[in-house]
Amino acid sequence: MASVTLENVVKRFDDVVAVNNANLEIRDKEFLVLVGPSGCGKSTTLRMIAGLEEITEGTIKIGDTVVNDVPPKDRDIAMVFQNYALYPHMDVYNNMAFSLKLRKFPKDEIDRRVKEAARILGIEDLLDRKPKQLSGGQRQRVALGRAIVREPKVFLMDEPLSNLDAKLRVQMRTELSKLHDRLQTTVIYVTHDQVEAMTMGDRIVVLRDGVIQQVDDPLTLYNKPNNMFVAGFIGSPAMNFLDCKLVKEGDKYYLDGHGSFKIAIPEDKINEAPEIKEYEGREVVFGIRPEDLVDASIKHDFDVTDDNSFTANVEVVEPMGSEIYLYLGINDHSMIARVEAESTAQVGDNVKLGVDTRKMHVFDAE
Ligand code: ADP
Repeated sequence: MASVTLENVVKRFDDVVAVNNANLEIRDKEFLVLVGPSGCGKSTTLRMIAGLEEITEGTIKIGDTVVNDVPPKDRDIAMVFQNYALYPHMDVYNNMAFSLKLRKFPKDEIDRRVKEAARILGIEDLLDRKPKQLSGGQRQRVALGRAIVREPKVFLMDEPLSNLDAKLRVQMRTELSKLHDRLQTTVIYVTHDQVEAMTMGDRIVVLRDGVIQQVDDPLTLYNKPNNMFVAGFIGSPAMNFLDCKLVKEGDKYYLDGHGSFKIAIPEDKINEAPEIKEYEGREVVFGIRPEDLVDASIKHDFDVTDDNSFTANVEVVEPMGSEIYLYLGINDHSMIARVEAESTAQVGDNVKLGVDTRKMHVFDAE
């Protein structure tokens, strides 16, 4: 068991800065997820921790040990990849035992570890099967088993579920979380899928172009994104962004959508983020999640007034059973509202939408 620390870590490939001055402390026993779009530096970060990629600048520590010059096999980590190549001619038992045999572990210790890992993963009945006799999910479990038998201080996982079909991926997500609870080991997990990140991570690191944007627990990331990138990346359907101007009238601040809306910013919001005042007179971006817009004709736990509502044209209605997605046009912007199933809004209607201003966001226009 160990923490992992990155101090001012830089990785350059010629003129590409893959990781730009990363500072990060991954806690002992934490499930930490690195997430971001393709090419943002997730795998490179993981590979540097594994020792598979040299660090251009900075320091990486596992526990209290600086590992910059420690070869991968001596780092006490185990890695699980997306393309987990099992040895086709070996049965499950030997696939799992292989790395321990290489390290010349005694036979009874190997047997104990393989059986323990098989028990944890629920694959005890499969030990004498060959990989081709296994389903995708079972193979993935064997790949995890190979990592577990090493009893490493840290597990590194690079998109381990991306080759599985959607249903199995959801199931394995839960299994991996449970596995982490049982093993009580540090896990660093790479994915481009924000849902995977949100459901599995104790904390999530959002990366963009090699730069860490935010490190937080899932709820904080969702409710208090640092910037528009994080706000837009986390959550599905994505947060709506509307250009507007921040104006002050009397002692109240408003988001003025150039004629299409005018939303008062509640005092609480300004006390929480006083920098909003500095945007006065400037173009800003109003951010609101689809679930924080309501159909004003239905009663809610806040009053819909002129100060927290606007009218938009319904372009598409998508009933989802428990709720309805409304695709709306407002000026030349598009937006999505997730409203209650009781909504009777039809395509072509101009509907009044209430904004739950407790949940609104104001971003500096980038
Ligand atoms: P991610 O895992 O987030 O998709 P990567 O860490 O694989 O991103 O890549 C980050 C950046 O570094 C990308 O621009 C990628 O093209 C570049 N890169 C990664 N590996 C190499 C390499 N071996 N040689 C040159 N450029 C690389």
